[in-house]
Amino acid sequence: MTTNAELLARRQAAIPRGVGHSTPISAARAENAEVWDVEGKRYVDFAGGIAVLNTGHRNPAVMEAVKAQMELFTHTCFQVLMYESYIALAERLNAIAPISEPAKSVFFTTGAEATENAIKIARAATGRSGVIAFTGGFHGRTIMAMNMTGKVVPYKKGFGPAQPEIWHVPFPVPQLGVEVEDSLKYLNFLFKADVDPSRVAAIIVEPVQGEGGFHQAPAELMRALRKICDEHGIVLVADEVQTGFGRTGKMFAMEHYDVAADLICVAKSLAGGFPLSGVVGRAAIMDAAEPGGLGGTYAGNPLSCAAALAVLDVFEKEKLVERSNVIGQRIKARLEAIQRRNDVTPIAAIRGPGGMVAFDIVKEPGTDIPDAEATKRITTAAYEKGLVLLSCGVYANTIRILVPLTADDKVIDEGLDLLEAALAA
Ligand code: PMP
Repeated sequence: MTTNAELLARRQAAIPRGVGHSTPISAARAENAEVWDVEGKRYVDFAGGIAVLNTGHRNPAVMEAVKAQMELFTHTCFQVLMYESYIALAERLNAIAPISEPAKSVFFTTGAEATENAIKIARAATGRSGVIAFTGGFHGRTIMAMNMTGKVVPYKKGFGPAQPEIWHVPFPVPQLGVEVEDSLKYLNFLFKADVDPSRVAAIIVEPVQGEGGFHQAPAELMRALRKICDEHGIVLVADEVQTGFGRTGKMFAMEHYDVAADLICVAKSLAGGFPLSGVVGRAAIMDAAEPGGLGGTYAGNPLSCAAALAVLDVFEKEKLVERSNVIGQRIKARLEAIQRRNDVTPIAAIRGPGGMVAFDIVKEPGTDIPDAEATKRITTAAYEKGLVLLSCGVYANTIRILVPLTADDKVIDEGLDLLEAALAA
């Protein structure tokens, strides 16, 4: 039998250390919210491949759709020979995305490509170059996306000069001492000190910061951004790569607001484990790029488009958006009970909309002093006990829960038992 330790050693010899690993486990197979490793040990999966598996591992409907597509063709390149699934997926996203005018969609492969292409589209539409992003935001690891990401270590350190004309504004997080009015004040300073708003193409924002710690943009911030964008002709881009497809208790997190974005970046849970991303947005803006300016050899791969259409069917059939809220409430109630115990690692700031739940590991109960070391100990204790659990956050002290929305209560409760045991260890 191959062991986790053997594969870890081979990995370390063959693969650069720049690809991080949050566990030393190698997967052998997976079903819905459960994973088995190469040694036969079973885990409850609270990571979902980092927010990709809202419909679970190997969702039967997704498997069927991909198998059927595989019998027909697996690749043509959409720019060479088009196929209906790409077009049908665009039609469905255009119909359901919270965009205030008729929408169009374009598909890519990774989340980083979605955020980069949203900026290309915004630049083509406005004829401007400037981009404003937020501290703590995460938009991907390619050069432009990395530069929009609001965290230096490990994402930017050693990776060359900053891209010109990208500025970061503090994201409002009360625990970190930043309120909405601070963010807006800073944005105003930026317009006075560094860039005239008439040179800004886009403001990109995650409705709920994912890697940054599951902090939700307050409605007041989103409204103010919309107003600033309208006043100055700036394109508002919502990065919904992590928040999309039911995670926050709405199909799109932008549905929590009474204002709309111009462009929405999607990826991750869109295609239930197959690589697919996209940008959905106002048709007038989406049509700005010249023919040939958007796309990619594998962009909108037919297997992934078939998977995504099945994902949307599963959402409707199994009412997964509602389920996200039920799951979120169940997890939060349990976390609140754990928080009341005085014999476990102290936790604070239980938060997040719908099934996008996180909490912080802190040094003392009742404080918000981050404890990154204890957080690492807890994620380690969790996988040792049989729970795949992810951390995140600017201070690496946030535990986030991204359990499939198709998981049943029994598996969720089992995962929460393991989490409680890890906090008590
Ligand atoms: N945007 C957000 C909000 C993300 O969470 C991520 C991935 N964690 C990305 C962009 C980048 O996606 P990918 O890793 O597929 O390039």
